Amino acid sequence: MTAKPAAAENDFDVIVVGAGNAGLPCAIEAGSLGLKTLLIEKDTRIGGCLHTTGGHISAAGARRQIQAGITDSVQWHREDIESITKGTHRADIVDVSIEHAADAVDWLDDNGFRFAPETPRIIYGHPPYRVARTYYGPDGGLSLLETFTAMLDKQVAAGHVEVWTDAPLIGFLPSSSPTSVQGIEVLKRGVETTVTAKAIVLATGGFAADAELFAQIEGFPLVSAAHPSDTGDGLVLAREMGAALQGENKFLPTFGGLPHPTTPGRVQWEDRPVLTTPERAPWEIYVNAQGQRWVAEDAESIDTKERALVAQVPDLTFWTVFDDQGRQESVPMVVNWKPEDIDAKANVRAGVYRANTIAELAAMTGIDAQGLANTIEQYNTAVANGNDPEFGREYLPAPIAQAPLYAMKNHGIALLSYAGIDVDVSARVRREDGTVFSNLFAIGEAMGGAATHGHAILSGMTCTPAIVYGRLVARDIAANVR
Ligand SMILES: Cc1cc2nc3c(=O)[nH]c(=O)nc-3n(C[C@H](O)[C@H](O)[C@H](O)COP(=O)(O)OP(=O)(O)OC[C@H]3O[C@@H](n4cnc5c(N)ncnc54)[C@H](O)[C@@H]3O)c2cc1C
Repeated sequence: MTAKPAAAENDFDVIVVGAGNAGLPCAIEAGSLGLKTLLIEKDTRIGGCLHTTGGHISAAGARRQIQAGITDSVQWHREDIESITKGTHRADIVDVSIEHAADAVDWLDDNGFRFAPETPRIIYGHPPYRVARTYYGPDGGLSLLETFTAMLDKQVAAGHVEVWTDAPLIGFLPSSSPTSVQGIEVLKRGVETTVTAKAIVLATGGFAADAELFAQIEGFPLVSAAHPSDTGDGLVLAREMGAALQGENKFLPTFGGLPHPTTPGRVQWEDRPVLTTPERAPWEIYVNAQGQRWVAEDAESIDTKERALVAQVPDLTFWTVFDDQGRQESVPMVVNWKPEDIDAKANVRAGVYRANTIAELAAMTGIDAQGLANTIEQYNTAVANGNDPEFGREYLPAPIAQAPLYAMKNHGIALLSYAGIDVDVSARVRREDGTVFSNLFAIGEAMGGAATHGHAILSGMTCTPAIVYGRLVARDIAANVR
């Protein structure tokens, strides 16, 4: 593509592409520093994944944590992350993220963010940190969006930030140097528009809503809870400009999700099964399509189960199998579901099955009947002996014997993509040849979840770095690029 001149009104200090969790704080900070800022969003509304995410953020040393009397430090946060990821993350990016995390939480606090009263707390859906350092609002990601929207509105009213929705980035305007960009092409409400700027920030999210790209880059079948507009646009276009990839081969699925009631390839995040031992002791077994178990269901860390799933179950599909006593005793099987809800949804809602016999349950689910029968028999023997020789499960409350029998279909799910645009520690995009763009940045999930999660998943460590880097990049541009 050759450079075209842009009209003066289409020339900015900075263009932020994507109005989500990373792009919004970036545009807000840029505006507050007096940069002439354009924020473009391909959707017809701002927010991106904030409409979908739990919006958990984590920080050591934020004001609220100190007021709650919790001892913590950035060094502890660093050590927890190192221990959970086993060193597979980008240490330089994590360091920047956690060193500025408390400031980001306090910034939200100063701007009226509604913290859920129980926060900070320890979250067990991911491998837990040693102390309570995770925050969220009562409405998940929407609570963050509420605060960001109010802050953005002020910058728009002050004339510092212009926002274009229904305006996807469709290409870059290269400059004479291979390591800088002049501007972008935007499809503004269907009209191709050229915009120039001194700096461009890709905050376009990941690609965990694009099954083809996901299978190609992450190498796994996609069952997604990600925001539908996260289709990897920034990554695809940056790679056309020579950008390198980072974080490949590090995807780790989030453990379990019921099929979406209507949409193949998606789960309904609101109906997520509770599969973490500290939150619910399991009465069920997990089986694959052959009817075989593959992990100790009472493993304390969810990380152990996620890794076993990737290693043992290539298509990431498994079923929880339990009997009527398990249904009544082990609550909640799914967030907010009572035992009677399972009965009401069985054989009605996708992925929830009830049958009177093992053979009937196998026929309904597609699990191998003989394999399932053998496994239940072995499990019941383990319960009788108080010893599970194959997997070492210790919590063996009762045999699976009391009809009716139940199965719930689960798939390892993608909340985010792990690979992303390679960047240096200042979030400047790095090219395949190792050179770095002087004025093109990638922040948030666009830089890949693995940068901060490594081959693991950590509480708050996509939302927090997205906010931190959003603000830091804006300051960098104000100081060095303008
Ligand atoms: C169900 C769920 C729960 C999660 N819970 C947590 C959690 O509790 N804590 C945590 O840390 N992480 C969590 N995550 C992950 C985290 O929320 C996301 O990784 C993060 O919000 C991504 O922020 P982002 O700004 O990079 O992307 P997004 O918020 O998705 O923003 C990207 C924006 O760019 C726009 N865009 C895309 N292409 C273009 C284009 N061509 N032109 C213009 N705009 C474009 C998109 O429409 C979107 O608005 C969760 C994810 C999911 C799905």
